[in-house]
Amino acid sequence: MNDILEHLRQLEQSTPVLVALFDASDRLRYANAAFRAAMFIAEGEDISWEEMVRRNYHAGRGTIINTSDIDEWIIVHRSRRGKERHKVFEVDFHDGRWLLVTQVVSADGWMLAHAVDVTAFRPDERAMRLDRDRALYASYTDDLTGVANRRFVAARVADMLAPDGPGGAFCLIDLDQFKAINDRFGHQAGDLILRDFAARMAREVRRADCFGRVGGEEFVLVLPATSAGAARGIVEQALDMVRLARPLTHQPDFTYSFSAGIAQSRLGDTFADLYNRADRALYAAKMAGRSRIHVEQDRPPSAVASAG
Ligand code: GH3
Ligand code: MG
Ligand code: MG
Repeated sequence: MNDILEHLRQLEQSTPVLVALFDASDRLRYANAAFRAAMFIAEGEDISWEEMVRRNYHAGRGTIINTSDIDEWIIVHRSRRGKERHKVFEVDFHDGRWLLVTQVVSADGWMLAHAVDVTAFRPDERAMRLDRDRALYASYTDDLTGVANRRFVAARVADMLAPDGPGGAFCLIDLDQFKAINDRFGHQAGDLILRDFAARMAREVRRADCFGRVGGEEFVLVLPATSAGAARGIVEQALDMVRLARPLTHQPDFTYSFSAGIAQSRLGDTFADLYNRADRALYAAKMAGRSRIHVEQDRPPSAVASAG
């Protein structure tokens, strides 16, 4: 239960959804970071709904209030505020955002409000925003397999390696004898196998992890806050799963495999450092006969600190 509350608390502070709780006398008793930022409330500030509204009205920020008489506006709105158990409405913000607000009121008069940015749903801008979202999504997606591409993976690795990042394991995965597979079954069959592999892996990864295609038949699995040993176990499981795959319907006996090299992040690592060490381990796995996983050998003691 504590675990659940802790996760709720943490996620509520990082969600872009505005969350606020007002007591029965309309004092703000809880607000997450998004709400405080949107309504210009300091952390821990004790303020009433009315004070908040007045202050932002005079400063010309926060929600747009179309009135020349704020006293009257407050009276009118207070008389309706929180009178329904559940309410959904829209507000415009001075910064151009359009928010959809939901309010729910308890029997003893406390009110919980959520507001989500629906600017993107504005009809006149919707098509443009959809195009932009699609283009952005495409720039991070591998065309053939639909998984993350090199650019996205590199960004997740940068997050992992950031000074306040968790560190973790980096797994370079290369399908075995792929040139021979293409030569024997054709390039289309090769593509199908790449998609089969990506789909299988994408189903397995946890939310914090990132899996992507970084080259022809080369993939990466980023495992933040994970040791090389634990990463090896995860990749071993993936290899067992892949060995059971029969992706070519016309070749029911056809199987494929991969080799993987795993490197543990170290303090000061760049994407290239980590990649190179994993690549050396991968090379060793290939030399040792393929269809196997190697972990980088030469770990100095400082590597433990950056693993988080
Ligand atoms: P190894 O086990 O040492 O990794 O051998 P390999 O044949 O897999 O490695 P090599 O690097 O010699 O060949 C990789 C092959 O992957 C060559 C290329 O034709 C094939 N390939 C790369 N991208 C694609 C793709 O998008 N589709 C298909 N079908 N094949 C691809
Ligand atoms: Mg290969
Ligand atoms: Mg390769």
